[in-house]
Amino acid sequence: MNRPGEIRTAPAESVNVAAVVEAMSIKFNTMVYELKREGVRVRVLSLGEAFFDLPEVDVRDLPHPEIYHYSDSRGLPELREAVAAYYGSQYDMPVDPKGELLLTAGSKAAIYMALLAVLDPGDEVLIPEPAWVSYTEQVRLCYGVPVGIPYTASVADWERYVTPRTKALIINNPHNPTGYRYTADELASLAELAAHRGIWLFSDEAYSDFTPDGKYLTVGTFDREKSNVVLFNSISKNYGISGWRLGYVIANAALITQILKINQHLITCPATVLEYYIVKHFQSILATTKPQISALLARRAAIAEFMDSIGLTYLPGDSTFYFFVSIAPTILGSEAFCTRLLKENHICVVPGIGYGESCDGFVRVSVGTESLDDIKSALRELRELIARTSA
Ligand code: PMP
Repeated sequence: MNRPGEIRTAPAESVNVAAVVEAMSIKFNTMVYELKREGVRVRVLSLGEAFFDLPEVDVRDLPHPEIYHYSDSRGLPELREAVAAYYGSQYDMPVDPKGELLLTAGSKAAIYMALLAVLDPGDEVLIPEPAWVSYTEQVRLCYGVPVGIPYTASVADWERYVTPRTKALIINNPHNPTGYRYTADELASLAELAAHRGIWLFSDEAYSDFTPDGKYLTVGTFDREKSNVVLFNSISKNYGISGWRLGYVIANAALITQILKINQHLITCPATVLEYYIVKHFQSILATTKPQISALLARRAAIAEFMDSIGLTYLPGDSTFYFFVSIAPTILGSEAFCTRLLKENHICVVPGIGYGESCDGFVRVSVGTESLDDIKSALRELRELIARTSA
């Protein structure tokens, strides 16, 4: 019983959520915004997006009043059809838009909801490093146990990390932050591993169109029934509209039904107006962004050559707009290194430690937003900081 006037403080926050760490990329990008507010010109090689020239948005010819209201909680049927047809025609992957696809507010939310749908507390999820910042924390939010696989382990070694508690393995293809594309043999062996060990294989395909030859092989083609494979994709990246928060998950109908329940209780549906806009302009936005993606990948190749010429090394990859650059032999940890680069040189890159314990000797460099000259000068200065801080 409370005494009259007694104030009892609210209980402590959840131990589980308190243990979750802030995304390293967002932490550094927040420091950039602060510096920019002080009027400092920062070369930003830390953003998780590419800037495209896009037409002005006009919503006047979209259906009124439908755009104001909730849409189907699986996502607007016309947009599901367009996305399923895209997977069919571009990636040779059959998808039933009625039962096997769910649109939601960004692929980040789709991955989280799928994890929630398959994990019981204590279940392990294998996450090869470098790992996109959110996988580990999302697994923790679901009371699961993230198991990082060091970047030095090859795909053929991953099975050694499977235990009776393993529920899922998450790959990112093409890969943020290395730009790596898994080979057909690797994808076939991973699909087989998932089927053989009875685990889920989650494939995050957010950068599927960011390949230099325009070709993309999804692991889904090795499990067309979707018995074990779950695919995630994002309308953010391929369309250059990351702020619009539209992504989707492709899975077998039974799993989609489970994810749908979570979506209904958390999100209801993606922003209806955006769904109508994208479905109406689906082909024309792609026609606008595809050449810009090609130009960006050509720029990436030029930057790779430039890094080779100045002696910077990076993990193998030819896709996306990222590089995972080695900062060996600096004596600094990657977070201290990036903080110095930002404070002294006004260059922002993301510390490798955010991508897993084994990755402290790296930084992520994104080439999607600055000019070629600015990127080259920033990389030269980065190399000089490595030299200045080596033993
Ligand atoms: N997966 C990866 C690998 C990403 O880099 C990102 C965005 N940075 C996402 C998923 C999330 O994309 P979305 O904007 O669709 O939530």
